[in-house]
Amino acid sequence: MQKENKQEFEKEQLVKKSEDFTKWYTDVIVKSEMADYAPVKGCQVIRPYGYAVWEAAQKVLDDIIKKAGVKNAYFPLFIPEKSLQKEKEHVEGFSPELAVVTIGGGEELQEKLVVRPTSETIIYEMYSKWIKSWRDLPILINQWANVVRWEKRTRLFLRTTEFLWQEGHTVHETPDQAKAEVDRALAGYVKLYQEYFAIDGIWGRKSETEKFPGAVSTFTYEMLMPDGKALQGCTSHYLGQNFGEAFNINFLGKDGKMHKPFQTCWGFSTRSIGALVMAHGDDNGLVMPPQLAPIQAVIIPVFQGNKEDKELEKKAQEIKDALKEFKVEIDARTEYSCGWKFNEWELKGAPLRIEIGPRELKAKEATFVRRDNGEKTKVKISKLNSEVKNVLEDIQKGLFEKSKKHLKENTREASSYEEFKKIIENEKGFVKAFWCESAECEAKIKEQTKATTRCLPHDAKKEKGKCIYCGKDSCYKWVFAQAY
Ligand SMILES: [Zn+2]
Repeated sequence: MQKENKQEFEKEQLVKKSEDFTKWYTDVIVKSEMADYAPVKGCQVIRPYGYAVWEAAQKVLDDIIKKAGVKNAYFPLFIPEKSLQKEKEHVEGFSPELAVVTIGGGEELQEKLVVRPTSETIIYEMYSKWIKSWRDLPILINQWANVVRWEKRTRLFLRTTEFLWQEGHTVHETPDQAKAEVDRALAGYVKLYQEYFAIDGIWGRKSETEKFPGAVSTFTYEMLMPDGKALQGCTSHYLGQNFGEAFNINFLGKDGKMHKPFQTCWGFSTRSIGALVMAHGDDNGLVMPPQLAPIQAVIIPVFQGNKEDKELEKKAQEIKDALKEFKVEIDARTEYSCGWKFNEWELKGAPLRIEIGPRELKAKEATFVRRDNGEKTKVKISKLNSEVKNVLEDIQKGLFEKSKKHLKENTREASSYEEFKKIIENEKGFVKAFWCESAECEAKIKEQTKATTRCLPHDAKKEKGKCIYCGKDSCYKWVFAQAY
C-alpha cells in the first residue's frame, strides 16, 4: 500500500518539461537518481545511474583518444600558487574561482596551494623538465580527473564547483602539427556528441573575448538546448608558444638550435550529461540515447500473483541470456506493481521495455515498448536479438534526427540589430549575423541582449557585409546565442 502511494507521489511531482523547464531539469535528475545535491553548497553527488552514463561516454572518448596515440597519465590535485601565476592571462582568467589551501597538517603552509581549476600549469612545469630535444616530441598526454572552480550559482551537471573531465595536453615541434592535433581533438568530440549523445551542434572558433585564458585560439562544439539557450560541449585550444614562454619549455631542434615548442590542450566534462538530459528528455522523464544508456533494455515479467510467475521469471532470464551483447536488466521486484515499474523506467529513460506476461509466454512472444515514441510491438522470441538491435539503432538515429531538426529550425539569420534583438527576445536559439570582430561591439550586444558570440562556424563563408551593431565592414557571419 505504501509503495502504491509512492508511485502516485512521484508521478505528481515531476513537473512538465514544457511548463517549467528549469524545475523539470533538476527534478528529473534527482528523481531518476542520476545525481543529488551534496552537503557542500555547489557540489553534487553523481549516483550510480548517472555515473554509468559518464563511464559509457568516457569509454568511447578514451578509445578515440588512445587511437590518436595519446596516453593517459595523472598529475597532482594541488598546484603551487606561484606556478599558476606564471601565465598572466591564465591566472587572471581563473583567479576569481580558485579554491586555495592555506593550512596543511595543522600548520600554516609556507606556500599556498591551489586546488586545480585546470592543469596546464602543473603539467607544463613537468614538461619543461622532460623536454630536451626534438627526440622527446611530440608529447601526447591526457588525464581523467576532477577539477574545482568555485561557483556562486550552481546547477546539477551544468555548473558545479567540482566536476569530472578529461584534459589532453600535447607538445609539438611545429605549429602545423599542433594545429592538426587541435582539429583531431575537436573532431573526436564532434563524433562523440553526434554518434553517441545524439546531439547535433555547430563547431568552430571562439572569439578573442570568449577564448581560453592563455590560448592563441579556442575551438568549440556548441549545442542548442530546448529552451533556446546554447551549451558549450567541449573545447580544443591552440596554445602556440604562450605557455612554452611562461614555463620555459625549450628543445634542441634537428638544426642544432634551441626552439620553443607549440602546444595544445582540450577538454570534455560531465557537463555533457546535462546536455543529454535537456536535449532528449520529455514530460515523463529522461530519454537515454541507446549508445550511452546504462540500461538499454529492461525486461519486466508481468506477474499475476500465481504459480505461473515462476515460469515468467524463468523466461525473463532466458531472454536476458539471449541478449548478452546488450545492457539488459530484469525488473522482477514483487514489492512494486507493473504500473509503478513502467513509470519508473520511463522516468529513468531506458530506451526499450520488454514485457513478458502469460499471453506472451503462450505465443512465444514478447511485447516491446519504445521509450522515445511509446510504440508497442509484439516480437517473436526467436527473433529477439536482431529486433532489439534494430530498435535500439532506430531510436539512436531518431534522436539524432530530432536534434538535427531542432538545430536547423532554431538557427536564424539577422541582417539588422533590430531583427537580431527581436529574435533573441522572442524565439531565442542561434542567430547568425555579421560582426566586425571588435570586442566593443561584442560587449554592447552582450550587455543589451545577454547574447554572446558562440563561434565562427568551421564552414563559414567569407562574404561582404556590415556589422549588425556598428555597421563597419565585416566578412563573416558569427553565431550568437544566450548561453548556459
Ligand atoms: Zn561592430
